[in-house]
Amino acid sequence: MQFLATSLLELITETSTNLPPDVRAAMSLATDHETPRTQSSQAFNIILSNIDMAQQDEGPICQDTGMPTFVVHTPVGVNQIRIKKAIREAVAEATRRGKLRPNSVDSLTGKNSGDNLGIETPVMHFEQWEEDEIEIRLILKGGGCENKNIQYSVPCELDHLGRADRNLEGVRKCILHAVWQAQGQGCAPGAVGVCIGSDRAHGYDLAKMQLFRTLDDVNPNPTLAKLETEIMEEANRLGVGAMGFGGKSSLIGCKIGVANRLPASFFVSVAYECWAFRRLGVRLDAGTGAITRWLYRDPSRPVERMARGEGFPLTGREIVLTPPLTEAQMRALKVGDVVLINGEMFTGRDNVHAYLMKNPPPVDLHGAALYHCGPVMLKDGDQWKVKAAGPTTSSREEPYQAHVIQRYGVRAVIGKGGMGAKTLAALKESGAVYLNGIGGAAQYYARTVEQVLGVYLMEFGIPEAMWHIRVNGFAAIVTMDAHGNSLHADIEAKTGAALEALQEA
Ligand code: SF4
Repeated sequence: MQFLATSLLELITETSTNLPPDVRAAMSLATDHETPRTQSSQAFNIILSNIDMAQQDEGPICQDTGMPTFVVHTPVGVNQIRIKKAIREAVAEATRRGKLRPNSVDSLTGKNSGDNLGIETPVMHFEQWEEDEIEIRLILKGGGCENKNIQYSVPCELDHLGRADRNLEGVRKCILHAVWQAQGQGCAPGAVGVCIGSDRAHGYDLAKMQLFRTLDDVNPNPTLAKLETEIMEEANRLGVGAMGFGGKSSLIGCKIGVANRLPASFFVSVAYECWAFRRLGVRLDAGTGAITRWLYRDPSRPVERMARGEGFPLTGREIVLTPPLTEAQMRALKVGDVVLINGEMFTGRDNVHAYLMKNPPPVDLHGAALYHCGPVMLKDGDQWKVKAAGPTTSSREEPYQAHVIQRYGVRAVIGKGGMGAKTLAALKESGAVYLNGIGGAAQYYARTVEQVLGVYLMEFGIPEAMWHIRVNGFAAIVTMDAHGNSLHADIEAKTGAALEALQEA
């Protein structure tokens, strides 16, 4: 097995940096369907450029490289313990090289292991089979979309859809509800893997396994094939749009499987996957571990360019912000404005917000732009370099954000997916705004970082530390303003009404 380590490292690197052709095709189609010059189409432009940048630079498509999940099939007689060890070594090496973000946190102490290894991390599923080769499939599914997974125990009552019964119509309602509840927080447009039946634990596993199907395949079960087609058509009438900005493209794939269940239980489990749908696979020679074939892609075919233009299409109407920001500047902004930030900002996510509830910040945050981001950083000599730096899901900071804004004078919060009523009230009272970046556009935003000026609270680990950066041309959209307006609340209400309309149709 002299080539096993190299093959695994190549698999991880390619999965993290190069989206498979079926996902590229689905994203192209979704972009074509979007109305030009809308916020959603602007988001698509950045996403497509980001996909190109990641492949060209071999950098992570998104800074959240997710929970590495390997599904391995081996011929009888192959030493699985050896493969497990090689997978762990390859994961640690890919982390050292900045292809994976250090993402593994001890759930009791909160300590980041720094190498993506830990209890039950990475996730590995092994099966024997009767073929001669080894097959290894890998999916990197990030936390933002993982948090939007949902499981229904039917019969149940659903917002805007009423009762879901124990039949296919009930399943249809659950899946549509799953797409609706994700809004932009799972970095729409997304895809759903669904399991009808099984028990709670295995149902979620089987739902995730559906994400290993290609987006353009046809379900061999005609009943499920029909349901998949219907869901695609209906979900794309909801109006969630890219990043939840509102728009025509909300779902790029629906893959449904079925498993037997206990008479007393009827679960519908949904694995929500973001547009940064990173999954690949390889066939390996069982003797040497060398790659004999790639799954999902043909490396002899050139990778097609995705971007329609160059990055973010500027209109000249963008508002340039240079922190420190003033209350008057923030009160002049309104929902829908596009801003370009030039200057300094600080990152801060879950641990930083929890810290700020009890401790003063290590820096003066008056007038600051606070970026919900857990970047991938590598040290080059004495200097930190940004390898990936897109926004993370802001709703996790909802319990803390109002306090941080009001107590420390933060003027702009940047993230993705929007925030709730408490933050909206604090923005209004203090004269601050929420800016929505494009989730997953980690390479695009990394290129806006001119310099890493410093780092604080490093004891929280690289993604959770407070990074001080200087950016140039950092684009974002005002989605919550200082006048009590929230694009997120508007889209949630509109899409809820669209769900009700589907119900009545
Ligand atoms: S694209 Fe969005 S949901 Fe997906 S991993 Fe990145 S930040 Fe998370």
